[in-house]
Amino acid sequence: MKTTTQAQKVTYKDGKISVPNKVLIPFIVGDGTGPDIWRATKKVLDTAIKIAFNGEREISWVEVLAGQKAFDSTKSWLPEETIAKVKDMKVAIKGPLTTPTGGGIRSLNVALRQIFDLYACVRPVRYFEGVSSPVKKPELVDLIIFRENIEDVYSGIEFKKDTKEVKLLIEFLKSVGHTVRADSGIGIKPISEFGSKRLVRKAIQHAIQNKKPSVTLVHKGNIQKFTEGAFCEWGYELAKDEFSNETILEKEVYEKYNDTAPQGKVIIKDRIADNMFQQLLIRPDEYSVIATTNLNGDYLSDACAAQVGGLGIAPGANIGDEVAVFEATHGTAPKYANQDKVNPGSMILSGVMMLEYIGWNKAGELIVSAFAKTIKQKRVTYDLERQMSGATLLKTSQFADAIIENMM
Ligand code: NAP
Repeated sequence: MKTTTQAQKVTYKDGKISVPNKVLIPFIVGDGTGPDIWRATKKVLDTAIKIAFNGEREISWVEVLAGQKAFDSTKSWLPEETIAKVKDMKVAIKGPLTTPTGGGIRSLNVALRQIFDLYACVRPVRYFEGVSSPVKKPELVDLIIFRENIEDVYSGIEFKKDTKEVKLLIEFLKSVGHTVRADSGIGIKPISEFGSKRLVRKAIQHAIQNKKPSVTLVHKGNIQKFTEGAFCEWGYELAKDEFSNETILEKEVYEKYNDTAPQGKVIIKDRIADNMFQQLLIRPDEYSVIATTNLNGDYLSDACAAQVGGLGIAPGANIGDEVAVFEATHGTAPKYANQDKVNPGSMILSGVMMLEYIGWNKAGELIVSAFAKTIKQKRVTYDLERQMSGATLLKTSQFADAIIENMM
């Protein structure tokens, strides 16, 4: 008689992830175009896992509600049950969510990051041959950006002009020697040693585990010394204190090793943010892993995604010490909802990041190579088709089927 194993949760032991062969993963379908891209993503992920592991591994998907779908059925944009299940099952994937308007939650994505302390926003950026790009050599871009996700100007500490709070702040600033115009609004930018170090730690660990050549600390420390500048200093300090065997400073490589890092050492370097934007356009191949503060990371992620052909295929994840949520990086694109039209690439590649996170890399590799092949064959959705000559226009579901065909 055939026995069926029950699906189990991801767990952690001594900081290490443990993933059963049949694993429970919660998913949020998302609003607008979410259902279209989720259907395509699920099909691609399930097929790849089946092929890669001969049916011995499987994801048992658990739907949890958030966004408009949650509000319509529970009157809550982010039900407690969803929070409890994601917390319990540790690894989740989500489609884009409508930002509620008027009162309550400012942004569901920000709420999720804060509730689960998802302090690292991780965005890999690479080029797929055939995609139209605004630069001459997009294939030189192969980066992964670790953006601090909780602090900086995103901490939500802002005071409106003319309020009691802003007047108090202006008074306080005057008492410590700073003049601020009376008609100002004021935002606060907290950057902590704890928050900076845990983000840089994740970036360096990623570089070591994946044999990446360097980690670049991107900051605006020449102007904002005690926030951005401190982020950079703490990053170097962490590299020295925790990874001295595995890392080497760029300066040392230049001075002692004739500009070539010793085998197996990750180079730690830093760049001022404005310089980094031009460096990434001119010499992107000199950069590999980037660790940066929240606002710099927000700008850099989209600029880099644009450099390789746009946000439609840019994946992302928000990762903490225990919980990780993988997500499409674009919004709900509501005008295309239920038309089976948009590109599911961002969510599919976020699914690949999830497979890598749980150690099912073989399935992820299968998807990436089939994805690349499908684009190279110029079988693409409308967003890429309008920029390629001689391309075949596919619907969302047809694009997923083409990827699956290329996996066989
Ligand atoms: P958006 O939904 O990202 O859409 C903007 C444009 O980007 C679309 O009109 C489309 O451009 C293109 N696009 C988006 N997704 C695409 C896909 N899968 N394939 C191909 N093209 C795609 O941004 P928005 O209109 O500013 O935001 C709509 C809603 O989404 C808002 O409620 C916003 O708050 C929310 N949002 C959610 C997230 C999230 O959950 N992570 C992120 C951003 C925004 P063309 O029309 O030019 O083809």
